[in-house]
Amino acid sequence: CGVYGMYSRELAGELAQRTYFGLYALQHRGQESAGIAVSDGERTLAMRDMGLVSQVFDETRLASLESGHISLGHVRYSTTGSASWENAQPEFHGRGDVNVAVAHNGNLVNADVLRRELEEEGFEFHSTSDTAAIAAVAVGELERGKGVGEAVRDAMRRLEGAYSVAMIFRDKLVAFRDPHGFRPLSIGRVEGGYVVSSETCGLDIIGAEYVRDVEPGEVVVIDDDGLTSFRAEPARRALCSFEYVYFARPDSRFEGREVADSRFKMGEILAEESPVEADVVIPVPDSGIMAATGYSNASGIPYAEGLIKNRYVGRTFIQPTDGMRQIGLRLKLNPLPSVIKDKRVVVIDDSIVRGNTSRKLVSLLHEAGAKEVHFRVSSPPVTGPCYYGIDMDTKEGLVGANYTVEEIRAQIGATTLAYLSVDGMTRATEQPRGSLCRACFDGDYPITGTASKLALEKV
Ligand code: 5GP
Ligand code: SF4
Ligand code: MG
Repeated sequence: CGVYGMYSRELAGELAQRTYFGLYALQHRGQESAGIAVSDGERTLAMRDMGLVSQVFDETRLASLESGHISLGHVRYSTTGSASWENAQPEFHGRGDVNVAVAHNGNLVNADVLRRELEEEGFEFHSTSDTAAIAAVAVGELERGKGVGEAVRDAMRRLEGAYSVAMIFRDKLVAFRDPHGFRPLSIGRVEGGYVVSSETCGLDIIGAEYVRDVEPGEVVVIDDDGLTSFRAEPARRALCSFEYVYFARPDSRFEGREVADSRFKMGEILAEESPVEADVVIPVPDSGIMAATGYSNASGIPYAEGLIKNRYVGRTFIQPTDGMRQIGLRLKLNPLPSVIKDKRVVVIDDSIVRGNTSRKLVSLLHEAGAKEVHFRVSSPPVTGPCYYGIDMDTKEGLVGANYTVEEIRAQIGATTLAYLSVDGMTRATEQPRGSLCRACFDGDYPITGTASKLALEKV
């Protein structure tokens, strides 16, 4: 998912527009539903619906959200809770005169337990998303008459898992990030105020100046007094390495470093680790482009576009059913025989998850006349599920969890197959060792007992 929030009296009247642009830049983070809420500090108006940002909003709808100096935006793709209207965000939760609006990216690992506790505390839920639980916990703490910072700090103690959150409470915009900082969240400055965005590409699009990332475990409160912040929990840094590999937009920056640059490096290291004699390097667009450039650069094998992507097809992976994914794939890519025919081709993709894309791709390349197809993957095999907000939650579907590299090579029909090593991926991010989550690649889950906790939840 993508979250967005703005606070500026100077821009009051334009916030819905700007938030719309921000969400447009974050569209790759979720395509199921989109929503915007605008508040004047007392009343909050919101609009949310299924579909892309451009499908949900038009001039008229944005105009109806005009007044107010605090805004919240969200684009969703589901990990917990189904892809339905009720689960679209921003999520509202209130009791008596305490109301919050919440936009969340991530996935709680204790959502079910928490919901049961909250129901016992008298909360009612109208949606199945774990975001509702976050909102309710916050309301519960606020009802005790605490200041908003203190309330959020105490709420965070009950939340386990991944959450990068933007929230409106009365006349404040609050942003906070779980102690591991699994999902990104950045802060920017605009005329008369601030903006928070899942990725810095959401700051760039409205001309906001990047200030810094929200720190893991940090709570940021923005109001008429400006920005104040404090650390609610000690940081246990575990930014998702898959954000670097695939999920984030290449022009976004984490800790000041461009994602594109990391991907280029992944390709370079991949070429050093797994060289091959070949005539041409082609990317699987768009996700493999940066790594293919790096691979070509390090190997000296010429780079060419050998697969043409239909620009109007969204990320196939994000469509929630397997049937839809299959159709999506066929719609999406078409090979260029002039580049491929009679060539020894290195094809680079960022990841193999279920294995559908690569199988289909290799046969497309053979049909187009490739002499050899050397598949190179700019991330390690995905061997375990993600519980922290990326939609790969069961082991059964993960080809890397169930087969060896040689078996996968045979299944997809490639001449050779090689993946980037875990160490190579880590080096490419230039983040200190131990500050990344790599659990789906190496089985080292930052929250101990994650799997058994979730198993308990299902009972
Ligand atoms: P698969 O192996 O499951 O067929 O798909 C791998 C392809 O899906 C890669 O090209 C990768 O870029 C893309 N992909 C798209 N969305 C996601 C996502 O949310 N997670 C993962 N893991 N891969 C995705
Ligand atoms: Fe990212 Fe994988 Fe960790 Fe999930 S398990 S947060 S996808 S690195
Ligand atoms: Mg891809």
